[in-house]
Formats: sequence, C-alpha cells, structure tokens
Amino acid sequence: MMRWALIGASTIAAQYMIRAMRAQPDGEVVRVVSGSAERGAAYAETHGIATSGTDLDTALADASVDAVYISTTNEKHFAQAMAAIDAGKHVLCEKPLAMTLADAAAMVRAAETAGVVFATNHHLRCSGSHRAVRDLIAQGRVGRVLSLRVHHAVYLPENLQGWRIKAAEAGGGVTPDITVHDADVTRFLLGEDPETVVGQIGETGLGQGVEDSAMSVWSMPSGAMVMSHESFTHPFAGSGVEVHGTEGSIFARGVMTQNPVGEIELVTAEGREAVPFDDHDLYVEGVRLFAEAVAGRGQPAATGWDGVKSLAVALAVREAALSGVRQTVDYGDAK
Ligand code: NDP
Repeated sequence: MMRWALIGASTIAAQYMIRAMRAQPDGEVVRVVSGSAERGAAYAETHGIATSGTDLDTALADASVDAVYISTTNEKHFAQAMAAIDAGKHVLCEKPLAMTLADAAAMVRAAETAGVVFATNHHLRCSGSHRAVRDLIAQGRVGRVLSLRVHHAVYLPENLQGWRIKAAEAGGGVTPDITVHDADVTRFLLGEDPETVVGQIGETGLGQGVEDSAMSVWSMPSGAMVMSHESFTHPFAGSGVEVHGTEGSIFARGVMTQNPVGEIELVTAEGREAVPFDDHDLYVEGVRLFAEAVAGRGQPAATGWDGVKSLAVALAVREAALSGVRQTVDYGDAK
C-alpha cells in the first residue's frame, strides 16, 4: 500500500500523476496541500481526494501518508522536500529539484541520512522509446558515439503560460524547465556526464524577463559532442533525439514528450530499419519504479543525484549564455 500526499495543486498532477499513482495495484492519493484553501478544496473535489489543506506540517503529521509528490513551482521544492524528509516521508520531487545546486544536493543528502527514498520525476527515462535508443547504443549498433542532437523546441500550451515565462523568482525559464530533461536524457542514453558547455539563450516571443529559448553544445568525457535546443515558442518544429556513431545513426522523432508516441529509425550500412518500442505510460512506470524502490527493490528511474546533475547542466548552460564564457559543469559532490 502506498498512500500519497500531493504537495501542490498542479497541472502535471491533474493531467498525469494522480492517474499514475492510482494505476498502481495499491496506490492511493489521500491529501493535497495547496497555498490556497479554496483552490485546494476545489482541486480535491475535482480529483476525488479526501483531504485538502494549506498547512504542510499537518499533512506531514498524517502517519498514514507514506510518500509525497512535490509539484509546486520550483522555488518551493527545497523547503517542502526538507520538511517531508524530516517527517520521514519518501519524496518524489519534480524537476528542477531546486533553484540552486547546493539546495538540490542538500535535499538528496538529507534523504540519504533519513533513510527515505528520494527521486526526481524525469519521466523520459521511463519511456519505451528512450529505453530502445539506449539499448541500441549499448548493443553497439551505432558503433562509437560521435554526437547526439536533442530537438526539444516546442510551443508552451496557453494554460502553462504563467510563471514559466515571466517569474524568474519561481524558477521560470526554459533552461530549468526543459534543458534539465535534455541533460537527463543525454546522461541516460550515453551513460556519461557532460563536462563543459557553451550556449546562447534568448527571449523569442513568450519570455518576459526569463529565457524562452536556449541552444547549447556540450562536450562529453568520451569525446562525443552534444547539441541541445529547447524552446517554448516553436509550434511546428517537432521534437526528437538523434544519436550518430561510426557504424550507424538513430533518429528518434517525436519522442521528447509526455506520451508514449513517436518513431525510431536506425540507419546503418545495411539500410534503414524501423525500431519497435514499448508504449507503456511514462508516468505510471515512473511511479511503479518509485514504489518498488520504497519496497526495497532497486532504484527509482531517476534518483535524487540524477536530479542534481540535470540541474547542474541547466545552470551551466544559462551561465555560459549569460557570461559568454564556456563553463565546466559544476556537479558539486553529486554521486
Ligand atoms: P502549475 O502552474 O500547474 O502548478 C504549480 C503551482 O501553481 C501549483 O502548486 C498551484 O499552487 C499553482 N496553481 C496551479 N493552478 C493555478 C491557478 N489556476 N491559479 C493560481 N495558481 C495555480 O505547474 P505545472 O504543473 O506545470 O508544474 C509544476 C511542477 O512540475 C514544476 O516544478 C514543473 O517543472 C514540473 N513539471 C514536470 C513535468 C514532468 O513531466 N516531469 C511536466 C510539467 C511540470 P498551490 O499548490 O499553492 O495551489
């Protein structure tokens, strides 16, 4: 039995996560904590959640709550996660974990000390498509990886055009929002951590005081080069990830998404081949692996340290763009 408290009456919980928690054989959502009593109550009613409230400590004092899912705006994650860890709850936290690397690392260390499971909700690791790409690379189907290109310039839906495009203090901007995902996908696919980055950011139509677009190039320890493009302003660009190696290329189109969609093609000297992949729900799989980890079986799809590292890359991209100076990614003491 896993009983969840939601911290944050968010869109992502409404659209994907509540369903993912309830899709587990023994998953229940028992509470929601909101900054507004009225919004929390309305949210609880809409989603059939028994209890709502504005006081985090009250929710954390509920001994029947096993785990919390934090999906408030980004500047709130740190204090809420620390309180939950302090109360002995397991934590599934949204990306970016925090506003600074030091805060993110402190959260993960606190969870280790407390002996609770702490995970980052990097859902793309849970997709059949990304797993298939990773398997092709691991099987040597493209030979030595020379480069990877991430295409993640999308159009931010109107209902999400709030804090993301105008509130730097709430962690707005495309680098904390999407570059973190691309950093995690790259680490997941290649099994190595970006070393240095150069980049550019800009406001191209939606951003008001925060960047809505970013392009960056990362060097990897193996010598592979990574090109990453994120945006909120591109209605028709489509998304994808390409991996190019000495023996082949992988084109995964339409896969930088919340749903199990897209297509993968492997191109080698033998020709072109469509690569099948599993179409399970990404978020259901993420919650399943989290629950398994709580039960003592394995690790969550993305650990806390994975969340620290994806944040480190995103912060380096923004700093490289702002300073015009190549940055060495600072992972602090991340494992
Ligand atoms: P929302 O803007 O929907 O929710 C964030 C907070 O905004 C909520 O906690 C809520 O505050 C408040 N809020 C929500 N709706 C309203 C409203 N109508 N009026 C006033 N306030 C409102 O954000 P998202 O769900 O898009 O993102 C939340 C977090 O999840 C972020 O950290 C984001 O990065 C992450 N995320 C992750 C995704 C993934 O796939 N891993 C996908 C999307 C988001 P309160 O709780 O106080 O009621």
